[in-house]
Amino acid sequence: MTMNYLFTPTAPVSVPVVGSTAHFPVHRIYCVGRNYEEHAKEMGFTGREPPFFFLKPADALIVVEAGQTGVLPYPSLTQNFHHEIELVLAIGTGGKNIKAVDAMKHIYGYAVGMDMTRRDLQNDMKKQGRPWCIGKAFDHSAPIGPITPVAEAGDVAHAEIALQVNEQVRQISTVAKLIWNMAETIEHLSAAWELQPGDLIYTGTPEGVAAVVPGDILTGHVAGLESLTVKVA
Ligand code: MN
Repeated sequence: MTMNYLFTPTAPVSVPVVGSTAHFPVHRIYCVGRNYEEHAKEMGFTGREPPFFFLKPADALIVVEAGQTGVLPYPSLTQNFHHEIELVLAIGTGGKNIKAVDAMKHIYGYAVGMDMTRRDLQNDMKKQGRPWCIGKAFDHSAPIGPITPVAEAGDVAHAEIALQVNEQVRQISTVAKLIWNMAETIEHLSAAWELQPGDLIYTGTPEGVAAVVPGDILTGHVAGLESLTVKVA
């Protein structure tokens, strides 16, 4: 039976998969806060705290095909629009209370993502003890490149992660420096929410976050994965 909707529902957002015509349909976007020690320090924290999470809406994604340059609109209300390069986990098998020892088999693949941030608004909200949504979960705040299936991705746990702005390196580190590694992140996250196939997890950013302006070209890399390029419009 076809449902009689009042208006046409929004189509699911999906991400292309490297080496396949299939697309990964997105359910939710979870993000880990301050998950690299040097980034925690630059934000004024010690880096020694339990993992914490926030979400972005699935339709905040900017999906960029391999070899293409995505368009990243400069958002409203900010004068301090920051880049955060992140490794993204694509969950293929859901579950709750997943133990770290079992967690890696829940990952379908990996992608390069950017957790774009209206830093001035996020800082205002932090000061007032209010939710970060306006600083983190705005429209077009989550560029992502194609998903590479686990079997084709190489040793992501030790991969270099980097972001260039106009071909100048702004962020460079290694996934090995995650405070809470991929498996531990899934353990903590799945204790709080039941993970579903189609969930994406932005795992956190290393140090070097900074502002971008219209015209800037951002290129994100994680070794072994498709890179991600966007231009700020
Ligand atoms: Mn982030």
